[in-house]
Amino acid sequence: MLIDMDYFFVACEEIKRPELKTRPTIVGADPKEGRGRGVVMTCNYVARKFGIHSAIPISQAYKLKPDAEYLPMDYSYYEKKSAEVLSIVREFAGKAEQVSIDEFFIDVSDKVENYEKALEYAKKIKEEINEKANLPCSIGISSTKLVAKMACEKAKPNGIKLVKDEEANAFLAPLPVGQLYGIGKKTEEKLGKMGYKTVGDLAKASMMKLMDEFGSFGIDIHNYANAIDESEVLENYEVKSISREFTFEHDTKKDEHVIKEINKLAKQVGKDIEERKLSFKVVTLKLRYSDFTEHLHSKSIRPTNVAEEIARNAVELYKENADKEKKVRKLGVRASGFTDYKSQKRLF
Ligand SMILES: [Mg+2]
Repeated sequence: MLIDMDYFFVACEEIKRPELKTRPTIVGADPKEGRGRGVVMTCNYVARKFGIHSAIPISQAYKLKPDAEYLPMDYSYYEKKSAEVLSIVREFAGKAEQVSIDEFFIDVSDKVENYEKALEYAKKIKEEINEKANLPCSIGISSTKLVAKMACEKAKPNGIKLVKDEEANAFLAPLPVGQLYGIGKKTEEKLGKMGYKTVGDLAKASMMKLMDEFGSFGIDIHNYANAIDESEVLENYEVKSISREFTFEHDTKKDEHVIKEINKLAKQVGKDIEERKLSFKVVTLKLRYSDFTEHLHSKSIRPTNVAEEIARNAVELYKENADKEKKVRKLGVRASGFTDYKSQKRLF
């Protein structure tokens, strides 16, 4: 099962202020009356009615609904709620793997004997999360992580979707290739030019042709398209995150100074990661400004053990999110979402 929390950050805010439930509410960058930079991290379904969704520029959201509630990230509260949810799902699972702050794979194959029972079990889990953590979620159920993940997308919001093994190919076939896990914009475009519009087209494609175009990734996407994914639910590695911090002697606004230090920190984190043979899937940049406001910016990526990805993503987070009007006082670079890469499959 994949358990994915619905509009997680805003759902957390709604616990603190229940009146937000009926108001369009957005967590993300400060809109600064339309001049703000940065993006919408999460919004509730009331906000979605106005065309707002996650990852759009905050300035665009402001244009669509200036009188919505705009809230900054309260990351430590979200982490606390996330830990609560994890401890609830662990009770139900043989194995549990946290994928991100609001997504959890659990393996229940030793808890239920068939799909019907799995569906009942998922309903129980959903109720329990709702009652104890006061949060909504959606659940996808299947025999592979890949299909469970895709099923969960269809279950959203606040639903449960079961895709039996024998239904998996028919479930995937009509979807546009861009919706297949692991396929980004560029790959989608290339596949479109090659004449593969749906996952079903891709499933029937020649493996050789895909390998010519994409190398070994061609084998992966051919497998995904055929609902083949042998990766297992991996218990999370005990180390939760590795980070390094640095405080400037003199607060600075200069990009080249900041980027140089981000690269240094990322190198130290990367060295630790290599020594521990971990792969990671979340990179976080912490920025504290001279006025002592502090912001955490995170990015989820495909799991990787390539240390250089930490620097690349941390610098990108800086360029995308830094408040250029303020001087930076302190920096932090963190990698998290670990699994042991020796047993890690490419997909998850
Ligand atoms: Mg979610």
